[in-house]
Amino acid sequence: MSDVATAVTTYHNYIAGEWVAAATGRTIENRDPATGALIGRFPRSDASDVDRAVAAATAAFDGWRRTPAPRRGEILYRVGELLKERKEEIARTLTREMGKVLIEARGDVQEGIDMAYYMAGEGRRLFGAIVPSELPNKAAYGLREPLGVVACITPWNFPVAIPSWKTMAALIAGNTVILKPASDTPLSALKLAEVFADAGLPPGVLNVICGGGADVGMPLVRHPDVAAISFTGSNEVGREVNVEAARALKRVTLELGGKNAIIVLDDADLALALDGILWSAFGTAGQRCTACSRLIVQRGIRPQLEARLLERIAGLRLGHGLAETTDIGPLINAGQLRRVHDYMDVARADGAAILCGGEPAADGELARGSFFKPTLLGGVTAQMRVAQEEIFGPVLSLIEVDSLDEAIAVNNNTKYGLSSSIFTRDVNAANIAMRELASGIVYVNAGTIGAEIQLPFGGTRGTGNGHREAGLGALEFFTEWKAIYVDYSGRLQRAQIDA
Ligand code: NAD
Repeated sequence: MSDVATAVTTYHNYIAGEWVAAATGRTIENRDPATGALIGRFPRSDASDVDRAVAAATAAFDGWRRTPAPRRGEILYRVGELLKERKEEIARTLTREMGKVLIEARGDVQEGIDMAYYMAGEGRRLFGAIVPSELPNKAAYGLREPLGVVACITPWNFPVAIPSWKTMAALIAGNTVILKPASDTPLSALKLAEVFADAGLPPGVLNVICGGGADVGMPLVRHPDVAAISFTGSNEVGREVNVEAARALKRVTLELGGKNAIIVLDDADLALALDGILWSAFGTAGQRCTACSRLIVQRGIRPQLEARLLERIAGLRLGHGLAETTDIGPLINAGQLRRVHDYMDVARADGAAILCGGEPAADGELARGSFFKPTLLGGVTAQMRVAQEEIFGPVLSLIEVDSLDEAIAVNNNTKYGLSSSIFTRDVNAANIAMRELASGIVYVNAGTIGAEIQLPFGGTRGTGNGHREAGLGALEFFTEWKAIYVDYSGRLQRAQIDA
């Protein structure tokens, strides 16, 4: 995995079962966003490394697709076991390079473990369909086949979970994989590759190439031997990937941004709602695709909710994710810190009030990292930019409404549709909300985060292109159907004619 020539480790790509430097020998530095400390040097790969990885994955494909799916599942099961053994070590690595607090990093790895077991079980299912033929003495059935070499391009905010969702679903279906992790979090992906290698995955079946989006991501998308692309990231890049893949008629799944909301009705359990809001808005420093960035509150409960929320926010502690006392870690990098800070000018210009936070936190040790104070914006209306655009930081906009209908309308009035939540004790209101909230995920009396891997994950409208990850949704993307007809009548039978 690495050369340890000096105190700083230089890591390698994983291609054809071997750890190899980028063809050019160039590297990128990866730093702890809480302290700026150098974590390691990683390959600054380019198209020639992509070619090499695709060649390895292509060579491995026939062997892997012909490996019985239950055997593929056994390897995934071992991956789950090894991830469990190494959970703490990998979680600590993840916190250092991404910044999220340790309990969340453990949850990130746990998603990988859950997915490994789930997909291992799929090795004994991968259900197809047997249907009756319209003709006598004829069998008709459909089975799932892998696509070939698939590329998985992942963001930095779930450095183990998202690569696990994608690679494990792809692999159980018999595809071979090139994983391109975000350049801010390559080490977590390499740790995952190490687990796959130790679990006995044959060489070339999974390859990991580190590097930038333009240098590695786009050459992967364009590579003629890559059959499909599973992408999670921003809308801007997702659109580019989609356009490029469309030129070659490639299959693409896009999991993009969100502008998720929690609705709190007057009759809600306020203490429960506060817990849900805090966790969803400020967990992972607001850097989850499902993070709550809009709080839609009914007029009657608004003053009390706002006051208690401000008290609770004042108690949140910023710090290194490895410190037990920390509630909120840093943002991923200085660029993201600037971006979030710039949104405060946008909020003011649009007439919103900064009720707390609103600036970077730079006291003492915090000055070394990319910390932003948890922020509550008041007086926000549905059309303001802060209520429409994904900020991806610890910034929550409070929007007051009169009724359930208005709350639903505000919730649905963005270009995104990932996750929505409602706090209410009224069963009728809850059921109407479940029906009317236009998002891929709906929570009742829970915040906007906390999806489990056995249900399809993804969003409507601008959050993606209609595919789903996890659960059965994942297999739909990573397989294609083959319809088989076996005629054992001994004569020519013509469908639609002889029946
Ligand atoms: P990003 O779009 O900048 O990068 C995502 C990945 O794409 C990275 O690996 C990056 O290197 C690569 N990339 C960049 N330019 C590319 C190009 N031209 N061609 C091919 N690949 C390229 O996103 P990010 O900043 O890493 O992640 C944050 C975004 O991800 C947010 O918008 C968030 O909402 C979204 N996200 C969505 C989900 C979901 O499931 N809907 C989950 C997590 C994150």
